[in-house]
Amino acid sequence: MNHHQFDTIALHGGQVPDPVTKSRAVPIYMTSSYVFEDTDHAASLFQMQEPGFIYSRNANPTNAVFEERMAQLEGGVASFAVSSGQAAISIALLTLARAGDEIVSTQALYGGTYHLFAETFSKFGINVHFVDGTDFTSLEGKINKRTKAIFTETIGNPNMEVAHLEKLSEIAKRHGLPLVVDNTFTTPFLLKPLAFGADIVVHSATKFIGGHGTAIGGVIVDGGRFEWSNERFPSFNEKKPAIGNRSYVEISREKAFILKARFELGHDLGATLSAFNSWLFIQGLESLSVRVEKQVANAQVLAKRLGELPHISWVNYPGLESHPQYHLGKKYFPSGAGAIFTFGIKGGISTAKRFINSLKLVSHLANVGDAKTLIIHPASTTHARLSPGQQAEAGVSPEMIRLSVGLEDPVDVMADITQALKQCT
Ligand SMILES: *Cc1c(COP(=O)(O)O)cnc(C)c1O
Repeated sequence: MNHHQFDTIALHGGQVPDPVTKSRAVPIYMTSSYVFEDTDHAASLFQMQEPGFIYSRNANPTNAVFEERMAQLEGGVASFAVSSGQAAISIALLTLARAGDEIVSTQALYGGTYHLFAETFSKFGINVHFVDGTDFTSLEGKINKRTKAIFTETIGNPNMEVAHLEKLSEIAKRHGLPLVVDNTFTTPFLLKPLAFGADIVVHSATKFIGGHGTAIGGVIVDGGRFEWSNERFPSFNEKKPAIGNRSYVEISREKAFILKARFELGHDLGATLSAFNSWLFIQGLESLSVRVEKQVANAQVLAKRLGELPHISWVNYPGLESHPQYHLGKKYFPSGAGAIFTFGIKGGISTAKRFINSLKLVSHLANVGDAKTLIIHPASTTHARLSPGQQAEAGVSPEMIRLSVGLEDPVDVMADITQALKQCT
């Protein structure tokens, strides 16, 4: 365990200056493979008898620094960095569930995750039940013998629903299930889901962690507390010839999940994170708290100002008292409700599109968490693959606009919004 504070871990966690070259920055190890000392050493690495690097699809020294730093920032025991947020969610859940199994998920989800669950997982024979994250009775009613996980986002995308992590964790524990939480929107700076009972945390590192809109990546963090000898998870306790006739639980009770994720799904599906992208995420982590603090402050100013404009019919941001879960947000993320919010524009979908087309400074693109301010119309883009019924379930209305607030001076962003509103209303 690292006894340092968050900001110190963000700069130093998981790294010592390179002992050979004395390089202060983390080197980018662009190598596919690592030379074995001899054949016994090779065999021992393959059987997981000792730590070390074999092939960069499984592990890489640059990625290892990013992974250790993320685990420390989230308060977990280990993590596994992968090629995207989608890969992180897929690998985390496929480590738990197989054909015939089920997952219970809150329904307000990132569009890609919704599609992964509703379309791709169902083709693999894994059935995901989508439930209203505030209706705990119906959520618990969907759990049965085949259920392998409960999944939620900390702040639902894009309906801005705040997950009641302690309630979800209580239900998960009652049924011997791991709670898997997507912490992309809040980042470990604002919220550490493991501290509120989550078992596994996933991220799209593409967003606030990278922070500059430069690289796609994801990470899975293992909280290390889930009891895998639980009868729902026999595969964690089966002895495997590939790992020295031991089970993952025998190798490490604490890290069984992340070992299995890395050496089975990660190894087989091959969604490897490039060392270069890992290096970019390490740069991002160094300034994560400074950026997020400022972006939250800017979002707070802009959400309030937008709510006062006559052309705006509503603003949905957990940082505003008008949000139905404002107090729940204060409990889970007292330092701020993130930098993303949605709003509705009077005049409906056609006015919303004209408004976006009239912006000059704010970037119209499909991303969030960049240092620059970003805007999108979810119904016709990120959530367009969903049917109108599915859109309604995910909380996407036709006139909704999503804003991800960056580091620009809010005065300039507000001026851009005001001039665009003048042109379309
Ligand atoms: C972007 C995003 C993802 C997917 O991440 P990628 O890096 O784009 O694959 C998953 N969850 C949330 C909340 C996201 O914002």
